[in-house]
Amino acid sequence: MKIVLWDTRQLDVSKDFAGGYGVGQYASGGGIRGQIVRRFYKRDHRPTALTFAYLASIFRQLGHDVHFGEDEIIPHGDVYVFSPSLITLNLELDAIREVVRTQPSATILVVGILATTLTTAFADLPVTLVQGEPEQLLWKLDEVLNKKPGPVAVGSIQDLDALPFPDWDLFAPKKFRIAYDFSQFPTGLIQQSRGCTFTCNYCPYIVIENKTRFRSPESVVEEMRRGMQEYGFRSFKFRDPLFGLDRKRVLRMAELIGQLPRKVQFSIESRIDLLKPETLTVLSEVGLTAITVGIETPDEGTLKQYKRAPINDDKQRQFIETCRRLGIRTVAGFMIGFPEDTAQSIKGVLRYAKAVNPTFANFNIVTPYPGTEFYNQVVQDIADFDFTKYNVYTPVMKYQHLTVDEVTAWHARCFTKYYFRWDWVKAHAHLLWPTTKWLGFGYSPAPEPQAPATIALPIVTASDCDRKVA
Ligand code: SF4
Repeated sequence: MKIVLWDTRQLDVSKDFAGGYGVGQYASGGGIRGQIVRRFYKRDHRPTALTFAYLASIFRQLGHDVHFGEDEIIPHGDVYVFSPSLITLNLELDAIREVVRTQPSATILVVGILATTLTTAFADLPVTLVQGEPEQLLWKLDEVLNKKPGPVAVGSIQDLDALPFPDWDLFAPKKFRIAYDFSQFPTGLIQQSRGCTFTCNYCPYIVIENKTRFRSPESVVEEMRRGMQEYGFRSFKFRDPLFGLDRKRVLRMAELIGQLPRKVQFSIESRIDLLKPETLTVLSEVGLTAITVGIETPDEGTLKQYKRAPINDDKQRQFIETCRRLGIRTVAGFMIGFPEDTAQSIKGVLRYAKAVNPTFANFNIVTPYPGTEFYNQVVQDIADFDFTKYNVYTPVMKYQHLTVDEVTAWHARCFTKYYFRWDWVKAHAHLLWPTTKWLGFGYSPAPEPQAPATIALPIVTASDCDRKVA
């Protein structure tokens, strides 16, 4: 069978983010300074979503002829697979209608989180909504193709090691570039785990399930080795929402990454309290260059209201400082635009961001993703139900104390006020422009006693994170 995977790069979408809902990019506001910030983000050529690379591999393993179509290119096929994000949904719906019009006998599958949480968007279309993990099609493709259009539950994968490695051939992987995490390219996407055990009620990662499944470190590092060999990847962005959950696995993986034939860069995403300084030291020795963390807001009451377990202020500052000293960039998420936010509370977030001073501060506008508990909690405060605006950079709520324009202006101000500071340049020049080190410019790491940076496995005791492993 000829199977066509269809995707779009329009609207600056990153489909792998926000649990598959996708995010856009900071687009406007802040005058010239805002434009400079935007330009920085625009340098990237984001990799195609990992789901597509898995599906390409799975369909080829099943003996099918797999093709890729992007935007106006829609190759002829027997089966079409769409993985819509919220912000590109209209583009996906247009492409689906085009397939229905031109190839009425083709079967159309819609995969991803929208196939479960936004079924109404596809109600008038003859499509099969694959509800669950798309990679289940390795075992269930025939069953799904035999169903009539409508929802089909496929469940989730119990043994992630049973999946073939993603196949990036179709997606021009040599162009993949994520410059805020790395200095070496191309960049591949990879996962060592799926899911999260925490309870932040606005988080789309826990909509489908609230537990974590892991791959073996051996399989993950073998995938990195092959990615380096076959696609020339020189950096890998781990797409686990909670990389540090199982410390023993993380350390084993570091040991194996250290044995790869060539030094590689990688970045991860984690909660701050899951990564101890010793673990950071070991990871940085083998190529960790960037960590994405959520700080969200310094207001503990807000965090508790939305079921996010707060992290001690000292711990957050120490974490960012430890990363800076180890040469690891930090990408911290902050949330502004809760319904009850005021100018003062947003200023508080900005002030805290400056005090903690990560390499990159992403100021995200609070977005009520359909299917989350938060969505139901604040549904009466949602001003705009046009989900294509849910890119985390557009205000969509009704605000008790601010207008939409004020939230927009504060959002732009957060970005420009954050980056255009001498303290930011001073702290991060050595990470972003390494040559400035030789000019005596930038941050000089203070000597600090550290645990030895060995790759040997330390004795792991039951820690918070171990207890949370599902
Ligand atoms: S820690 Fe919270 S925000 Fe992060 S993935 Fe888990 S539930 Fe989502």
